[in-house]
Amino acid sequence: MNGLPSRYNPKETEDKWYKFWQDNNLFSARIDPDKKPFCIVIPPPNVTGILHMGHALNNTIQDILIRYQRMKGKVALWMPGTDHAGIATQNVVEKQLAKEGLKRQDLGREKFLARVWKWKEEYGSTIIKQLKKLGASCDWSRTRFTMDERYSYAVTEVFVRLYEKGLIYQGDYIINWCPRCQTALSNEEAPHQEIEGYLYYIRYPLKEKNPKSKIQISNLKDYIVVATTRPETMLGDTAVAVNPRDKRYKKFVGKTLILPLVNREIKIIADSMVDMEFGTGAVKVTPAHDPNDYLLGKKHKLEFINILNPDGTLNENAAAYKGLDRFKAREKIISDLKENGLLEKIEPHKISVGHCYRCNTIIEPYLSRQWFVKMKPLAKPAIEVVKKGKIKFYPSRWTKVYLDWMQNIQDWCISRQIWWGHRLPVWYCRNCQKKDKSEIRNSKSEINSKFQIQNSKQIKGIIVSRIKPDKCPICGSEDIYQDEDVLDTWFSSWLWPFATFGWPFHTEYGIRNTEYEDDLKYFYPTSVLVTAPEIIFFWVARMIMAGLEFMQQIPFYDVYIHGTVRDIEGRKMSKSLGNIIDPLEIIEHVGADALRFSLISITASGQDVFLSEEKFKRGRNFCNKIWNASRFILMHLKPEYVSTDLCVFFKKENLNMVNRWILSRFYSVAKQVNDLLDGYKFNESANLLYSFFWHEFCDWYLEIIKPQVDDIHNQVIMYKVLEKFLRIMHPFMPFITEEIWQKLPHEGKSIMIQALPHIQEEMIDKNLEKEMEFIFSLITEIRNLRSFLQIKKEQKLKVFFYPHNKIKQKLIQDNVNLIINLANLEELKLLTLAKRPNETITTIMADLDLYLYFGGLLDIEKEKKRLTEKILNLKEIKISKEENLKNQEFIKKAPLEVVNNEKEDLARIDNEIERLEQILNELQI
Ligand SMILES: [Zn+2]
Ligand SMILES: [Zn+2]
Repeated sequence: MNGLPSRYNPKETEDKWYKFWQDNNLFSARIDPDKKPFCIVIPPPNVTGILHMGHALNNTIQDILIRYQRMKGKVALWMPGTDHAGIATQNVVEKQLAKEGLKRQDLGREKFLARVWKWKEEYGSTIIKQLKKLGASCDWSRTRFTMDERYSYAVTEVFVRLYEKGLIYQGDYIINWCPRCQTALSNEEAPHQEIEGYLYYIRYPLKEKNPKSKIQISNLKDYIVVATTRPETMLGDTAVAVNPRDKRYKKFVGKTLILPLVNREIKIIADSMVDMEFGTGAVKVTPAHDPNDYLLGKKHKLEFINILNPDGTLNENAAAYKGLDRFKAREKIISDLKENGLLEKIEPHKISVGHCYRCNTIIEPYLSRQWFVKMKPLAKPAIEVVKKGKIKFYPSRWTKVYLDWMQNIQDWCISRQIWWGHRLPVWYCRNCQKKDKSEIRNSKSEINSKFQIQNSKQIKGIIVSRIKPDKCPICGSEDIYQDEDVLDTWFSSWLWPFATFGWPFHTEYGIRNTEYEDDLKYFYPTSVLVTAPEIIFFWVARMIMAGLEFMQQIPFYDVYIHGTVRDIEGRKMSKSLGNIIDPLEIIEHVGADALRFSLISITASGQDVFLSEEKFKRGRNFCNKIWNASRFILMHLKPEYVSTDLCVFFKKENLNMVNRWILSRFYSVAKQVNDLLDGYKFNESANLLYSFFWHEFCDWYLEIIKPQVDDIHNQVIMYKVLEKFLRIMHPFMPFITEEIWQKLPHEGKSIMIQALPHIQEEMIDKNLEKEMEFIFSLITEIRNLRSFLQIKKEQKLKVFFYPHNKIKQKLIQDNVNLIINLANLEELKLLTLAKRPNETITTIMADLDLYLYFGGLLDIEKEKKRLTEKILNLKEIKISKEENLKNQEFIKKAPLEVVNNEKEDLARIDNEIERLEQILNELQI
């Protein structure tokens, strides 16, 4: 028999088996009409991605599900791929260029994109390689990329279909603008953060009393004070608004103000939208730089003045401030206002502002022409399917979060002013536009001029097409050009569950592939989506909408949302905090199995994970335990015993109690693990397997059979339990289970394509389990008492027992040899009277009194002294804890958990003192 080396070497083992699985195509999933499919599409990591703990957790969960379902006999497909990650990837390559002293504009669009593709070829598969290290059993032959040619067809198709349906439109709106990335961002991409800001009170002089020429005098007469958090935007003000019900300002409505610093005339308007409580009740209106002011501007037909360049500097509309950065301009404007006596006061003020999710720059509300998707019509059916339970969220509390957001959904800004991504399938005809005077401008580079918003009139000269048109379909002119923008990255990833299968099969391009078509039919809807909470809106919700719109079918049945990985103090892991734990380093030290198991065993359903390097010891120790136990079994296993026809031994009556017990326990645990995994309870199943193997199989079963390990029954049962356990364990720890399984004498290419053990219900005997549990607790009691009294292990003991009923009596008598062996007794004697024999210590158990005979084993005086000291010691601790709990300061300040722990400690100490006093008392005689 081929034994195992004394130490487990994860590094060698893991690489070896991963290569074996791949070489034998064991991850590939092909349609089998006789089997049910089970499919997961991976949340595609960014091509720029480097594996972090969040990925490790997310992908371990997916791999457990895939391996589990594969072994359950399904055709399990885990569809892998990466996301082109527009802004993120462009940023990476731009940084690379910056080192060479270049900007993307220096290269031009085409050359820049070539650089990005080159970067992608070189580094884009880093994360895929790292996922392989983790053991991910994806069908790599299907690896997709959101910018693949075929995938891009799907993106174009979807844009055109939505446009033709009237669900995509172009419009001038206030969007979130990142001046650093120089692109529009969707609302989800610009999350709000609260920052410490100021409220600036500025005086706007009235025209009648302050002729323009004399405005910069110090003896300013009539003026209105407005409050703002972004004073630089005043340069783009085109009105001041007050509430019509506000008595303070009634007489001013309709009058004219002189806008300070630029000396432009603006009107005072009245609108009920104005909040009378904010600031002074009079607000400045900047229609081109604030979403609310935008609405006011449209309603009151105000002028829209854009004062910003796309890079966040001020443009020619900002007069003397032209060319300054927005925050520099703010400083200068404040000092100029002060100098002219136009600044009333400054107050500290907390403000909530959007930040770019890519570079954390403060975003600027910015008026520009963008493309949008109308979301309400798409959201409606997506709300229905979740309400009706066709799609279920785990944990279920996410259902409400999803529904709330969907019910308040806003239109989705999908155009991005970057180069890396799917270019909009939109062209413009210059000829048609010349004729249509209402047309404003098309290229984003023309944004920074002052313009007047037109009433929404159908814009002529727009061509939306699946293929590049050679001329304008309206006027026939060849003077056409494509929109410069690309689509939001999520506009491609929301199609992931079906576009990865090659949807649409046959398109205008005439491409048809039946393999794709069949796969889509077979695997769609996919089974479950496993994801982190951050992307529910970005991705999960939109996939549901896209699935329903384009496939007329939900994209997945279940959505499992796991927690966020944090450090042990509960903080998010980040570079700046220096608290990152690198999963690849952990794999290097303890192996992927240990990493996977540790992560899973501490991840309670839907809760955040608090991680320290210490936690990975659990997985490593468990690997070693499995290894050592298997090594023991392999060392003693006689293959001829286990390869014969085994049925005869499985007749219950041929097996002794211990063998029947371990089989019963094994099948109970196996059954529970299946139920738990079906309900996405990963940590519970992992911990159940852990305690079964460690405490029941190793600590009890193997210990008990050790002296008779050659017995044929023991041989068969220990082998069977180990082999089946490895199969159940495989989805959690794929490598070590394969390594050991391959050494066992059986048929089969790999453990990963074996069936899960069949649950033999008839072997489960709950009563037997309880009885054995009692016997084990009895042995444990004796062992504890022995160690407490510091009696050597080799010393055989005499124990008396008084059962309170016949059942317990019989149970003990039936197992008397087992107890004598495991507790190392000389004698286990039944008492007929409930009276403590001389020179014994009592232990009370349920329905049973135990007495340990210490005559001649102890130095009584020394023992009494030791116990007395111990009692004194405990009493001191007790007093200090009691004082703590009486201290109101402590109770108030300490967290509830700490207070409760103190209370529990106190109760434990009380019990211990009582027990020690009893023993001390029994030693007297
Ligand atoms: Zn940015
Ligand atoms: Zn035309």
